[in-house]
Amino acid sequence: MDTRQKKIAIIGAGVAGMVAALELSKGGAKVVVFEKSSKAGGRAQTTHKEGYYLNFGPHALYAGGLAHRYLQNNGIDYRGAAPPLNRENLAIFAGEVYELPVNLSSLFRATYLNWSEKVELARFFRRLPHLDLDKIMSTSLAQWLKVNVKRTRVRQTIETFVRLSTYANSPQELSAGAAFAQVILANQGVLYLDHGWQTIVESIQRKLNSESTSLRFGAQVQSVRQLADAVEILVDEETFLFDAVLLCIPPQEVEKLLPDALSGQALSTCRAACLDVCLKRLPRPKHTFALGVDEPLYYSVHSTTAKLADGEGVLIHLAYYLEPQDNRDDHEERLLRLLEQLQPGYEQELVYKRYLPHMVASYGLPRADHAGAAGLKSPRLKGYPSIFVCGDYVGSDWQLVDCAVNSSLEAVQTVLASRDEGVYGRWQENAASATVESQG
Ligand SMILES: Cc1cc2nc3c(=O)[nH]c(=O)nc-3n(C[C@H](O)[C@H](O)[C@H](O)COP(=O)(O)OP(=O)(O)OC[C@H]3O[C@@H](n4cnc5c(N)ncnc54)[C@H](O)[C@@H]3O)c2cc1C
Repeated sequence: MDTRQKKIAIIGAGVAGMVAALELSKGGAKVVVFEKSSKAGGRAQTTHKEGYYLNFGPHALYAGGLAHRYLQNNGIDYRGAAPPLNRENLAIFAGEVYELPVNLSSLFRATYLNWSEKVELARFFRRLPHLDLDKIMSTSLAQWLKVNVKRTRVRQTIETFVRLSTYANSPQELSAGAAFAQVILANQGVLYLDHGWQTIVESIQRKLNSESTSLRFGAQVQSVRQLADAVEILVDEETFLFDAVLLCIPPQEVEKLLPDALSGQALSTCRAACLDVCLKRLPRPKHTFALGVDEPLYYSVHSTTAKLADGEGVLIHLAYYLEPQDNRDDHEERLLRLLEQLQPGYEQELVYKRYLPHMVASYGLPRADHAGAAGLKSPRLKGYPSIFVCGDYVGSDWQLVDCAVNSSLEAVQTVLASRDEGVYGRWQENAASATVESQG
């Protein structure tokens, strides 16, 4: 039996990297995490600004998802609440405000739909839990809707809920099976987190065993090389040897380190332009949630559900879901008009706002031409036996942060199960002495 302690490097301290670090250290490995920025969190970071806690755009943890289950089972300490179903849910259609059909009674009141459209939408939602999703993984959402839904406004309404659940605004590419699986997951509820998603990352960081795990911040990995029995990485002019390396970084960063590793893998992203707005109070307190039906708009007051301000302040997340080819920088103007429509006179209450024109919510849009997979089938890389990739573009059963966590768990399982001799005995002093720069 292989009893020696494995030496593993993790590159990237986002949620994927932090979960991998926790699992590897629990599994008895010696771990060094290299993170180029000054703190952990990646896209799950929260900025504390003027007494408000801003995630990078709207973040909701799926209550029925793998990440929540994993974090709960491992004692990761964060608190959150589900936005109430009985809030006023609004639909924006042709620039006007209507009720959003989220259940039978609101469907009845959603006056942008006529009677036959309401009946068709109700039929779709009745049918949804019984669809054989495996059979439509290779069908695009657009194709499925064309065949199965007659009326344009009903299709648009279904696409609205798909955008909300998946972040994808690409019905031609998106797998219908994966899209509906995510709508079903979202229907189980989501959590907005008190003090933002950073609390997840900080709690994982507190749990890491400082004897076996080192975190190095401001450490950008410049190169990664697979050797016969080890992996060599270069950071700040220093080289280190490890038994295995987990690349918990976006695909374009993987390509910089290993130019041929992802070749032939067609990956698509889900992107959004995000506007995060801090107000002193809400001019219209009841307007807490709205979705665009004929425009890809999102608006939600997260602070009425979660504690996201030190005082009484209000935090609103708005987003414009970007189509694949949309590289415009000017969606802020549309989002501000929506804000003014729902919160007239908001400017009098404005404390701070931040516009992020091109946020990547997921690097792995589940594509119909990949049978619903995010892109890479598994964390293994062909030709690199000791290098693995983790993130929201690896694997097929989950999306967004659930996909990222799933890929980390799979990579860790593979690494811990492997019995190769690696670099044991040749462990470099510099790697062993990589300091714990931040714990707790
Ligand atoms: C606007 C937005 C909204 C979202 N909403 C949701 C949501 O509602 N629900 C949900 O489940 N998910 C959501 N997500 C997705 C979620 O945030 C991510 O899936 C999750 O944070 C996992 O990220 P990760 O660890 O895989 O990658 P990242 O967070 O991107 O982390 C990668 C890390 O690697 C570091 N790095 C990169 N290159 C190097 C290098 N060469 N050397 C060292 N370090 C390096 C980066 O600095 C970064 O810290 C959203 C994301 C965004 C942007």
